[in-house]
Amino acid sequence: MTADALSGSDEADLVIIGGGYTGLSTALHLAEAGHRPIVLEARHIGFGATGRNGGQVIPGLKHDPEELLAHFGPDHGRQLIDLAGGAADLVFDLVDRHQIACAPVRAGWIQAAHSKQALIKVVNRAQQWQERGVAIELLSRSEIAARVGTTLYHGGWRDPRAGAINPLAYARGLARAASAAGATVFENSPVTSLKRRAAAWEVSTPGGVLTARQVLVATNGYSSDLVPGLKQSVLPVQSMLIATEILAPEVRDRILPGGVVLSETRKLAFYMRQSVDGRIVFGGRGSVGALEHAGLMSALRAGMVRTFPDLADTRIENSWSGHLALTMDGLPHLHAPASGLFVALGYNGRGIAMSTSFGAMVAKWMTGETEPVYPVSSIRPIGWHRLREPVMNIGVRWYWLKDRLGFAS
Ligand SMILES: Cc1cc2nc3c(=O)[nH]c(=O)nc-3n(C[C@H](O)[C@H](O)[C@H](O)COP(=O)(O)OP(=O)(O)OC[C@H]3O[C@@H](n4cnc5c(N)ncnc54)[C@H](O)[C@@H]3O)c2cc1C
Repeated sequence: MTADALSGSDEADLVIIGGGYTGLSTALHLAEAGHRPIVLEARHIGFGATGRNGGQVIPGLKHDPEELLAHFGPDHGRQLIDLAGGAADLVFDLVDRHQIACAPVRAGWIQAAHSKQALIKVVNRAQQWQERGVAIELLSRSEIAARVGTTLYHGGWRDPRAGAINPLAYARGLARAASAAGATVFENSPVTSLKRRAAAWEVSTPGGVLTARQVLVATNGYSSDLVPGLKQSVLPVQSMLIATEILAPEVRDRILPGGVVLSETRKLAFYMRQSVDGRIVFGGRGSVGALEHAGLMSALRAGMVRTFPDLADTRIENSWSGHLALTMDGLPHLHAPASGLFVALGYNGRGIAMSTSFGAMVAKWMTGETEPVYPVSSIRPIGWHRLREPVMNIGVRWYWLKDRLGFAS
């Protein structure tokens, strides 16, 4: 889908800045409820993390159910467990309902333990979901080797709620569904200023101005200075992916067959899946700064070959990277910094399902239908944000060492 850029001036009830899953899911749910939201995307739909991710649709937050209960209390914690636990269902429901051609496969997610210590932690995590009715599977070392095609892992668990999609196709499908339901999407429309004028927000792009009653900022790891302190409240980090050539059928049958997706327990984890056309899509950490480094791409390839020695001579046909947004508490953030202004971001690399769920929740919040079950916080800029590159590089070395020593994260 290609859309025009905003031109001229107009009035709008609801404006969404950012054409990733957060913005698009919000637009779709608003439009389905009879509203006429306008999405302004700086580049093109899915330009950010949304169009560049690993396609692993994993429910849940990075925090385990018991941690959510301890952090948010029994009532709120339970609501958040439901929200997070049901997030993948929403993605696959939307794909079904809107017939989004994004190669959906729902074969589950394996979290593979890189050490004995990490295995104890993931078994505990799996049991917490099992107690809540999820039909998880615990996998021994040999079972994981048989399912995945590597003997590298000590065991793990499989969450059947998870699956895979083609990330950009899913985003484009959401945009199409939102437009069909009554939303308007503008591409190549970077918002350059956001100003309060009397009871409305003036949203300006190089080609036009919208006067809006309510605005959602959904710019995640690509946030700029539109909202004071927002950019400084998250740590944008790069994640990188490589995709192999199409594998021979016998290799496809051995390595990650059937579309199951996998990620490791390492803090600096690799994540991987086989695409429906038979490539291994293998991801991992990129640089802390904005630039891709050839060295990190080679390290990613080396990691893939260490995991699957059979791929030693396999050609890499594609590689890319994108920015995700980390938060200091490891949780996504919802903010309402001023009247009529809303912000949702910070999925910590686990955002396909959660940002889609957040979109549904934010749509109801913006229209006053229901307050979000997720806590709304104030924007907290990170004190050392200006020094983030050197600080995070030290952090990366520290986590690398902990991973090597087998610590569970
Ligand atoms: C390489 C990589 C791999 C990942 N793998 C997975 C995975 O396998 N599973 C998973 O669950 N999650 C994964 N994630 C995370 C997931 O992709 C994100 O959490 C999710 O896409 C966030 O969506 P979003 O809409 O909030 O942000 P984004 O998709 O980043 O969208 C923000 C948008 O805002 C736009 N924007 C910024 N400023 C402006 C402005 N001033 N005006 C207009 N538009 C603006 C940007 O152009 C961008 O399109 C991965 C992320 C990356 C980078």
